Amino acid sequence: MNIHEYQGKQLLAQYGVSVPPGEVCDSADAAKKVAEGLFAKGEKLVVVKSQIHAGGRGKGTFKRGFQGGVKLCKTADDVYEKAKAMIGQVLVTKQTGPDGRLVSKLLVAAAPEIKKEFYCAVLLDRESSRPIMMVSTEGGVDIEEVAEKHPEKIVKETIDPAVGMMPYQARKLAGALGLKGDLIASAAKLLLGVYKTWWECDAAMVEINPLCIIVGPDGKEAMSAVDAKVSLDDNALYRHKNIQEMRDLAEESPLEIEASKFSLNYIKLDGSIACLVNGAGLAMATMDIIQHFGANPANFLDVGGGASKEQVTAAFKIILSDVSVKAIFVNIFGGIMDCNVIATGIVAAVKETGLKLPLVVRLEGNNVVAGKKTLAESGVAIITGDSMADAAKKVVASVKA
Ligand code: GDP
Ligand code: MG
Repeated sequence: MNIHEYQGKQLLAQYGVSVPPGEVCDSADAAKKVAEGLFAKGEKLVVVKSQIHAGGRGKGTFKRGFQGGVKLCKTADDVYEKAKAMIGQVLVTKQTGPDGRLVSKLLVAAAPEIKKEFYCAVLLDRESSRPIMMVSTEGGVDIEEVAEKHPEKIVKETIDPAVGMMPYQARKLAGALGLKGDLIASAAKLLLGVYKTWWECDAAMVEINPLCIIVGPDGKEAMSAVDAKVSLDDNALYRHKNIQEMRDLAEESPLEIEASKFSLNYIKLDGSIACLVNGAGLAMATMDIIQHFGANPANFLDVGGGASKEQVTAAFKIILSDVSVKAIFVNIFGGIMDCNVIATGIVAAVKETGLKLPLVVRLEGNNVVAGKKTLAESGVAIITGDSMADAAKKVVASVKA
C-alpha cells in the first residue's frame, strides 16, 4: 500500500526525522489559513504540494495547462492562488501516465532555503536478503537515471536486521555525502530515524528525495526530509491500525479494489491478453510465456490455491471490465484446486457476461477429466490448449488475427 507524502512525513516525524512543518488541506481557503500561520511564525517561504501517489510532481503539468504540482510562495495570497490552480485538477507527471491523477489534497508547508539536495532510500536488497540504505549526492532528480549513468554515485550500506542500523553506519553514509562538522550528526540522526521508520512500520520502501541541507532563519545549517515516499508491506498491515487508516482508495485502481474484496491478487498491466491463473508462480510464468510468443499480458491475476466458483466469476468480470483486453487465457494447474470448480466457474461467467472475446483454457491436474467434460458440454466457445505452450500460442494467435 502506498501513502501520501504528508502521511509519510507524519510517520517519519514519529521516529525523530526532521521534516518541514506543515499541514494537509483540501481547499484553497484552508491552504491560505495554514500559510498565514506559517508566515506569522517567521517563515519566509511556503511550499504548496499536490498530494498524489506519484512522484515527479515538481516537473508535472496540470491538464488545464498550469505548470508544476509543487510551488513556492512568498505570501498567503499567492498560496491561495496556487492552491486554487491545483485543487480539483488533474496532474500529469512522468509517473502518472497520460491520464494523470486528480489532486484533492495539498500539503502546505514551510519551505526552508535548500543548500543541497541528496537522495536516500531504505529497502530490501534481494541479493543479500537484507535491508539496505542507499544514499546519493545526486538528489532531487530521477534516481533511475543516476543508477544507469553514474552507478558509482549511489552508496549502499547493508544492515543486519538482528541489530538494526548502527550509528557508525549512519555516520559513514553521512561522510559519503561529503557532509562535514555538525551536519554529520544531524544527518546520522535523520538516517537512523529513516531506518527506524522503515523497520517499525513494516515498510517495503522509504525514499527521501530530496534529503536536504537546509539553512535556518539564524543561518544555521541542518538536515531535513523535504519529500517522502513510503510504501508499506500489505502482508504486515494488520499490525498497524494507524497506517491502515491512511489508505486512500481514490488513489487505487477501481479494479484492484474490487479484486481485493474477493481476495484475488490482481494487478492491471498494459497488454491485451487477460490471464486467470492459480498460484503466483504460475501466474508469472504465464505472463512470461505470453511475452515469449510475442504478445503482452493485460494483468497479473492469481485466484489462489482454492478458489470458489464465486471468485472465478468475480475474476472474469474484473478482467473483462478492462477495455484493452482482446483475449483471455485461463491457465490452471489443479493441485489443491479442483479443475471442475474452475470449469464450472468459467462457464457461468461466460454466460453471465455474454463473453465475445476468444477464450483459451488450459486445465491440468486434480479432477481434470470432469473439468474438460464440463467445458465441452457447456456449448460455450472455448479454445482448449494441450499444454501451456500450445495454449499460449493459440491465445497470442487470437489477438494477432
Ligand atoms: P516530486 O517532484 O514529486 O518528487 O516532489 P518534491 O517534493 O521532491 O519536490 C520537487 C522539488 O521541489 C524538490 O526537489 C525541491 O527542489 C523543490 N522543493 C520541494 N519542497 C521544497 C521546499 O520546501 N523548499 C524549497 N526551497 N524547495 C522545495
Ligand atoms: Mg521528490
